[in-house]
Amino acid sequence: MTINDYKFAGKKAIVRVDFNVPLNENGQITDDTRIRGALPTLKKILNDGGALIIMSHMGKPKGKVNMKMSLSQIKDAVAQALGVDVKFAPDCAKAADAAAALKPGEVLLLENLRFYPEEEGKPVGIDKEDPQYEEAKKQMKASQKEFAKTLASYADCYVNDAFGTAHRKHASTAVIADYFDKDNKMLGYLMEKEVEAVDNILKNIRHPFTAIMGGSKVSTKIGIIENLMDKVDNLILCGGMTYTFAKAQGGKIGNSICEDDKLQLALDIIEQAKAKGVNLVLGSDCVAADNFSNDANTQVVEANNIPDGWEGMDAGPKTQAAFAEVIEGAKTILWNGPAGVFEFDKFTAGSKAIAKAIAKATANGAYSLIGGGDSVACINKFGMADQVSYISTGGGALLEAIEGKVLPGVAAIKGE
Ligand code: AMP
Repeated sequence: MTINDYKFAGKKAIVRVDFNVPLNENGQITDDTRIRGALPTLKKILNDGGALIIMSHMGKPKGKVNMKMSLSQIKDAVAQALGVDVKFAPDCAKAADAAAALKPGEVLLLENLRFYPEEEGKPVGIDKEDPQYEEAKKQMKASQKEFAKTLASYADCYVNDAFGTAHRKHASTAVIADYFDKDNKMLGYLMEKEVEAVDNILKNIRHPFTAIMGGSKVSTKIGIIENLMDKVDNLILCGGMTYTFAKAQGGKIGNSICEDDKLQLALDIIEQAKAKGVNLVLGSDCVAADNFSNDANTQVVEANNIPDGWEGMDAGPKTQAAFAEVIEGAKTILWNGPAGVFEFDKFTAGSKAIAKAIAKATANGAYSLIGGGDSVACINKFGMADQVSYISTGGGALLEAIEGKVLPGVAAIKGE
């Protein structure tokens, strides 16, 4: 079923959203992007004459009630965003009466799902090494099903719009879907857009396809790099991870960040790219600093000949131009991870050059997907969010999807 086709009039919909918004010490929301992201789905259901039961997690309360992570703190903000009153159920597993009393157009927000260990389905208070662990896990899985069944009993249909947790097989993200038939469960608009974005990168590719992978470590990106190797024409590697490549090839990298146990992996990636005919683009020069700070002295040096006492902090001008040329010619673009320590204003130029080239390619008709926390932070810092095709809201979920893994939250609905 799709959200556009479903007739919500007179129905109760239980919707999993990601309202894990950041709060300050006074419990006020500091960034409401996630609430705004869910509005199209929530408003569609209300406008169609449905009643809404909204559920989410907040933070990591580890299966215990912790009022610092209570969703009651965001009830008024949700009401304001929706333009209707919001009722609150202080115990998400004991909300049957409140749900039953809901009339069309009314909204009930459930308390933090993760106040119950059943949400995540991991046994608590028992070590993995404990001989009783397997039994505890079995029991927890059984009570997770009961918990999911209780949540399901509140509503006629289930909508999952929480892409940020789609890579988790939790009670509210996946298990609950077993209690609805295929005509009564669907993805929300945000999830639909995210799934479509991933499909544009993995299935409906227009060539040339250029992926830009940056950030600090090659070890955390290896799954994606390997999956993309069969799909991309150009693979740009940038940021801190490239010094592992420079060292592996015999370069001098000074104090630059490096994973010494991944030197062979770097050489393997270079070989794989050659074997698969992928144009692997590594930086030729870099901006080096004499310490890790925004006040450091800097100089532009060859990326494989960094003087002792200096460290590579950003892509140099020759590298920026080379990256831009490859990006501007692309028809499909994926960017994950910055080209430098962009948190310091002195070292944003490399990431900015990438962002500008992506914007130019997008204006020329390319499809561009920006995903993973730090490149999203970069694009926002440069005020260029409206110049790319799509910015993913999912960190881990997006990365797992691009690695080619099936997301339990999507599979539970689409049955893939
Ligand atoms: P990741 O979490 O692996 O995507 O890495 C993102 C982080 O990589 C950001 O916080 C950047 O500051 C950092 N980073 C990028 N380039 C470098 C570099 N040359 N040296 C140290 N850290 C870097």
